[in-house]
Amino acid sequence: MRIGRFRKEDRVFSGIIEGERVFTLTEEDPLARPIERDSLMPEKGSEEFALKELEILPPVLPSKIIAIGLNYREHADEFNKTLPEEPMLFMKPSTAVIGHEEEIVYPAHMSRRVDYEGELAVVISRRAKNVAEEDAHRYILGYTCFNDVTARDLQKKDVQYTRAKGFDTFAPMGPWIETEINPDNVLIETYLNGEKRQCASTSDMIFPVRRLLSFISHVMTLLPGDVIATGTPSGVGKVKPGDVVEVRIEGIGTLVNRVTSC
Ligand code: MG
Repeated sequence: MRIGRFRKEDRVFSGIIEGERVFTLTEEDPLARPIERDSLMPEKGSEEFALKELEILPPVLPSKIIAIGLNYREHADEFNKTLPEEPMLFMKPSTAVIGHEEEIVYPAHMSRRVDYEGELAVVISRRAKNVAEEDAHRYILGYTCFNDVTARDLQKKDVQYTRAKGFDTFAPMGPWIETEINPDNVLIETYLNGEKRQCASTSDMIFPVRRLLSFISHVMTLLPGDVIATGTPSGVGKVKPGDVVEVRIEGIGTLVNRVTSC
């Protein structure tokens, strides 16, 4: 099942996508304020639209985004970093979220080096605390494409990641959530201006999704709608205003964002 959020004129709503059609849910927009809920399990309503007549919004508005550093061996190698013994966590603010075809704003007032990082993102379905790895799948609504945009110069300068990863527009995600993929073996590719720059299988992850969800849930409670960005493969590189970044994940689709200077 594909679940997205949409705008048509003044109306914002979540829907289930079937081919080129979008069906409303029984509730108008359950993915907009999921923090107030114990679980997210959308049900199909009766109204329908053509996908092409709708503006695509970020598929969910998370209370937090937990991201993983160095979760692919070759990416660790390209930065000459030793492999972590346990998942390396950092956070991106909810205010960084943008959707498919929204613009990434280059923070030229502070940074001279901004990179794309194509990643598989996990969307949480219900409140998760101290979850065992074998139960992790019960807490996952689905998966989406994610770009962990990073001011690389500030990441090096600050040591910790808050500023480098936290600028507004630095968390593009979408275009929608796919509930059915096998997160342990899908192809993830990133294209810069149409040229392939990253290509890997999620089977190359050091810590698989079930391990990440379990590990994080032993640190902090994951809420419905929260997002885990599972780390980027090798091949990261810089962007400049005017560039177009595409993150394509097998079975999900393609997230497209242009970089702008303001
Ligand atoms: Mg990353």
